[in-house]
Amino acid sequence: MTSETKYIFVTGGVTSSLGKGIIAASLAKLLQAQGYRTTIQKLDPYINVDPGTLNPYEHGECYVTDDGAETDLDLGHYERFLNVPTSQANNVTTGRIYQSVINRERKGEFLGKTVQVIPHITDEIKHRIQILGNSGDYDIVITEIGGTVGDIESLPYIEAVRQLKWDLGDNNALVIHLTLIPYLTAAGELKTKPTQHSVKTLMESGVQADILVCRTEHELPSDLKRKLALFCNVREEAIIQSIDASTIYDVPNMMLDEGLDKVVLKKLALNSDVPDLTRWNEFLKRHKNPKSEITIGLIGKYVELQDSYKSILEAFIHAGAENEVKVNVESVHSEYLNADNIKMKLSHLDGVLVAPGFGERGIEGKITAIKYVRENNIPFLGICLGMQMAVIEFCRNVMELADANSTEMDPKTTNPVIDIMEDQKTITDMGGTMRLGAWDCHIEKESIAYKVYQSQDIKERHRHRYEFNSNFKDQVEAAGLKATGYNPETKLVEIIENPSHPWFVGVQYHPEYKSTVANPHPLFVAFVKASLKHSKKK
Ligand code: GLN
Repeated sequence: MTSETKYIFVTGGVTSSLGKGIIAASLAKLLQAQGYRTTIQKLDPYINVDPGTLNPYEHGECYVTDDGAETDLDLGHYERFLNVPTSQANNVTTGRIYQSVINRERKGEFLGKTVQVIPHITDEIKHRIQILGNSGDYDIVITEIGGTVGDIESLPYIEAVRQLKWDLGDNNALVIHLTLIPYLTAAGELKTKPTQHSVKTLMESGVQADILVCRTEHELPSDLKRKLALFCNVREEAIIQSIDASTIYDVPNMMLDEGLDKVVLKKLALNSDVPDLTRWNEFLKRHKNPKSEITIGLIGKYVELQDSYKSILEAFIHAGAENEVKVNVESVHSEYLNADNIKMKLSHLDGVLVAPGFGERGIEGKITAIKYVRENNIPFLGICLGMQMAVIEFCRNVMELADANSTEMDPKTTNPVIDIMEDQKTITDMGGTMRLGAWDCHIEKESIAYKVYQSQDIKERHRHRYEFNSNFKDQVEAAGLKATGYNPETKLVEIIENPSHPWFVGVQYHPEYKSTVANPHPLFVAFVKASLKHSKKK
């Protein structure tokens, strides 16, 4: 079997959370910066068909692609690093694999055969891995296998990797195994044994790692690298140190210094060049040398976990660098906000972002926060649920519709200013049925949004079931809250603004998903700029 596309598999050993996604994205960046068309795919071994139904506490943020796939948050890293959109094909779960095999079985496509993990499940995995390669759009596909080798759930994936490596032949596929080299303080030593065991576990499944990327808190001495090479059957040049970084955006340069791209390209029999990281390094320079500092409050209900609002936090990093300002994001738990403590919690902030979300918990705190920022001229960005809450706040406190609410929270309200979208009313299945992915938005010229986007027609990504109820639109606009963006076909309100406030913008869509290092999102850039202005006035 010959292949034009080259495949790189990234597996993990010893523990989870080693940052396979960042290593995969960093390598992809280095390859892309040498002219190779590169994409990354994540295979997740859990049974959920997609992470759309998973609580952010379980799996962090659900990332949404242009084509409306609800995916693993690692896809966000891929897009932020590569500035190339991902799609449904970039994230596959065990649930999806089984679902398609079982659907084919029900159609009778297996012609009386017993359907088994090998070959049917493994064939489906191999097919999914090669969809991106066969598209002709990529020279290199990096496939990250979620989980840790040795997990029961990972076995079919590792078997598929073994088969593909064999099918594709030398120089066409390789395996990078990411492991941990722990430091034992009591012994004062770095330990290689867990890595040796992990490489052996992989070998028990017939897969020899070609490259080891070793996560460590301390520099790996060369004798330790030699030892690892000898015990793990990996060439010394292919033992790559990945030491803790102060920012994930340093990792591509760190991998470059370690020569990861060179070893990879050599193994794949491809030419290597000096990667052009000019734009990337310009961003890093700005990110690391801010001229001022601001603090923005992120008001949400999952604030304990870094991963729940991943794309928002990263978008602030991009927008901060663009403005040469350090953006400190202060998490504010919406459940504990009330009229008595709001001033104490928010008055020092330079800007406030009210986060997306679902369900009733914490929404009254969000509304209280929006009232405070509206009345005190603090720059405000409301995303999805945050935008909906801004409409409710305005209706309750300015228009005096005391029970104004979303029917998501109060189905019986007499003022359903936020209501379920018409085509959502008949939906009973929760998985993959929201209004998802990229939709058009038309922007009014007289608006902050138009100044921000410099265009009247944009496309942004969505993930919601409720919308601004158009029956209230005229009334709300007359009272001073303007709908400045809407979907050209359905007229669904996409953007609201309050012109009597210096910077008050709510968006039904999720701008954070489209912010990348190369293209910081203009709305975040403008919001940070407005917050900087506010901080100087204070
Ligand atoms: N729960 C709201 C809706 O479904 C908002 C969703 C969100 O913030 N992503 O419309």
